[in-house]
Amino acid sequence: TGKTILVTGGAGYIGSHACKALAQAGYTPVTYDNLVTGWQDAVKFGPFEQGDLMDRARLDEVFAKYQPTAVMHFAALSQVGEAMAEPGRYWRNNVCGSLTLIEATVAAGCMDFVFSSTCATYGEHDNVVLDENTPQEPLNAYGASKRAIEEILRDFEAAHGLRSVVFRYFNVAGADPEAEVGEFHRPETHLVPLMLDAIDGKRAALTVFGTDYDTPDGTCIRDYVHVCDLVDAHILGLNWLEQDKGSRVFNLGTGSGFSVMEVIAQSKAVTNRAVPHEIGPRRAGDATRLVSGSTRAEEELGWQPSRSTMDQMIADAWRWHQSGHYES
Ligand code: UDP
Repeated sequence: TGKTILVTGGAGYIGSHACKALAQAGYTPVTYDNLVTGWQDAVKFGPFEQGDLMDRARLDEVFAKYQPTAVMHFAALSQVGEAMAEPGRYWRNNVCGSLTLIEATVAAGCMDFVFSSTCATYGEHDNVVLDENTPQEPLNAYGASKRAIEEILRDFEAAHGLRSVVFRYFNVAGADPEAEVGEFHRPETHLVPLMLDAIDGKRAALTVFGTDYDTPDGTCIRDYVHVCDLVDAHILGLNWLEQDKGSRVFNLGTGSGFSVMEVIAQSKAVTNRAVPHEIGPRRAGDATRLVSGSTRAEEELGWQPSRSTMDQMIADAWRWHQSGHYES
C-alpha cells in the first residue's frame, strides 16, 4: 500500500508486534515513543521518532515529516497495581497525552485513528461473558483513563469527523514466533513473563495474587489472546477505516478464560519445568473474571484468532524468553 502509519508506543510489547504486521502488510510504520517503558531495540520495521505524547510541537513535526494516513495509538501506562498507587500519573500520561495526540492528529488532517483500550474499562460483572455493550465501570485508574479517552474520541468525531476503531483488549500474551520482538517490561508485572522468569530461576517464585476469589480454584480468570492475533485485528481495523465504515468498538478476546492456576499448569506442561510459586494476598484493583466473546470482531471485521491457545502462547513466549531481550 505504501501508506505511512504513525504508531505511538511502537517500541513497546504490542506496538512492536503491530509494526511488524504493518510492514508485512505493506505499510510503513513510524514509531513515536518516549522510551519510558519501550525499547529502541524493538523498533525494527520502520523509522523511529523519539517523543512524548504531551509534546505537541514534536508531534506536529512528526506529522509534517511523515504525513501518516492513520494513527495507531498504543502508547500508555498500563499496569493496574501502579495505577492504584499513582493515579495522577495515569490520568496525566494517558488522558492528557492522548488528548494532545488526538488534537495533533486532527490538526494534521489525519482522520483515521485506531485506539488500544482495555477490558479493564468494564470492571466487575458477575459470571458474564462481556460484550461491547456491557456497562463500563472500571475498578482502577488505568481502566478509567482508557474509558475517558474513548469518550474524547467520540467527542472529536462529533466535532471534527475523526473516525476511530477502538479495541478493548483482554489479556495479551505470547510473542512473535520468529522471536524478533517479544514481551519485555521493566519492572515486569505480567503473569506469563514472570512465570517464565520463575521457571528458569531468573527471579524468585511467582506470587499468586489471591486464592479466595469466587472461581472454581479461587484464582482470577482472564481471557488470553496471542499478541499476533491481536495485531492482526488492528490491520483489519485499519482496513475498516480505509473503507469508510465508520467508528466502531471491538472486544478482542477468545471467549475462554484461564485461571492463574491453570496458566501455571499449562506452563509446566509446555516447558516441562516446574513453576515455583507461592500464594499471596489479592492485588488491589483486580476483577475476578474478565472474559469476552469475540462475535463482533469475527462477524464484522472477519477476525479469526488462530494462535490463541494457551499452549501456543506459552510456547512462543518461552521461545522469546530463551532467545531475546532488549539492551537499550
Ligand atoms: N497475577 C498473579 N501474580 C503475578 C502477576 C499476575 O497472580 O505476579 C495474576 C493477576 O492477579 C491476574 C492475572 O495474573 O489475575 C493476570 O495479571 P497481569 O498483570 O498479567 O494482567 P492484567 O490482568 O492485570 O491485565
